[in-house]
Amino acid sequence: MKNDFFEVQSVDACQHILSSFAPVLEAENVSLDQALSLVTAQDVRADEDLPAYSRSSMDGYAVRARDCFGAGESNPVYLSVKARLAVDDYPQISLGPGECAEILTGGSLPSGADAVVMVEHTRQIAEDEIEVFRSLGPGDNIMLSGEDCRSGQIALPAGKRLRPQDLGVLAALGQSRIEVFRRPRVAILSTGDELVPVDEKPAPGKIRDVNSTTLAAWCARAGAEPWLMGIVQDQQQDLQQAVALAVNQADCVLLSGGSSVGTRDLSIEVISSLPQGRILAHGVALSPGKPTILAAQGQIPIIGLPGQVTSAQVVMYVLGLPFLAHLGGEDQAFDRSRQARVWARVKRNIASQQGREDYIRVKLVQDAKGLLWAEPVLAKSGLLRSLLHADGLLRIPAQAEGVSAGGTHEVWLL
Ligand code: AMP
Ligand code: MG
Repeated sequence: MKNDFFEVQSVDACQHILSSFAPVLEAENVSLDQALSLVTAQDVRADEDLPAYSRSSMDGYAVRARDCFGAGESNPVYLSVKARLAVDDYPQISLGPGECAEILTGGSLPSGADAVVMVEHTRQIAEDEIEVFRSLGPGDNIMLSGEDCRSGQIALPAGKRLRPQDLGVLAALGQSRIEVFRRPRVAILSTGDELVPVDEKPAPGKIRDVNSTTLAAWCARAGAEPWLMGIVQDQQQDLQQAVALAVNQADCVLLSGGSSVGTRDLSIEVISSLPQGRILAHGVALSPGKPTILAAQGQIPIIGLPGQVTSAQVVMYVLGLPFLAHLGGEDQAFDRSRQARVWARVKRNIASQQGREDYIRVKLVQDAKGLLWAEPVLAKSGLLRSLLHADGLLRIPAQAEGVSAGGTHEVWLL
């Protein structure tokens, strides 16, 4: 007779358990075009100033700001144009009082110049003379050398997941290769006698395996490398073999289905009977997603997810994404404040059991006044449509007994 009570643990406790697994942390060297969404394995230091020299950020005239103090429409300042600089000129000239040089966006500043007046705020009045009808201060419309980062400074810290803008800094610094952590390899197993592969027509009573596809996609979203191991029947021996292979070859195992306490729910038994199998949690105070297992074989984490298609994805979103980011070496992976989220008003009252974190699938709608509203997407449990039509998950914290219509709440973007 199986124990049919979960010893439910809070989401925070589960995150704490998951954070104790060591990240993979195997560094590899990749080129910038391969580096998007990977995690920096070491601090990246600038070995030169960026920008290397002071540059203009506008088309206009390089000037000495003090020459233009107090200039206005009715009292323009007159400057003589000493040079017309090309974008790639490194000017040898020096500006004296009353002098300026025509300059293009990105062009380097001649010495003596400490500001650029936009061409729109000037008028050419003779071949070599302009009037400036806007006052400006030192530093206006220029990028100072070293203003992005100074030689020797850390341009990107270790443990950072690389975004397009991060890659841009590396490109500017001439660092065409970078040390990153390899992606964690995640074995994905679906278990259930009723499951058939996506490309098969299910016989009556059978259904297609959805979780392999969604979980692999969420893995990829988390920067991990999914390894699809396919479907395993609800047979102790088959499942044991498959899980043994998975823990042997992967950095993490996701096993969906069979995580509850029914007679066909074998995950707990199978994991427990691995040579170094340990169950760390069975049951999470999370809805949907209560029948979740956190376990390990030696140092390899095994997450048993509910088979239910929506629950599996919510658990993946709430626990799996930060965990895989952590395994991948990302710093602060469990910090929920880094989650992409918005605050929206709730359209109607939603009840929630105290002691359980609820994730309500919501659509986000902006009203005529520009206010953001969260409308729950109603769908029966087991259907795919609640997530399909949702823009986000409205989080009801464990201590709350629900939310009231009109109240503002956190929505995690899907
Ligand atoms: P279980 O967690 O094994 O009790 O499964 C709960 C529900 O989810 C059952 O209706 C299963 O048929 C369904 N289910 C389990 N695994 C999958 C899967 N991989 N794809 C689609 N539905 C599944
Ligand atoms: Mg099942």
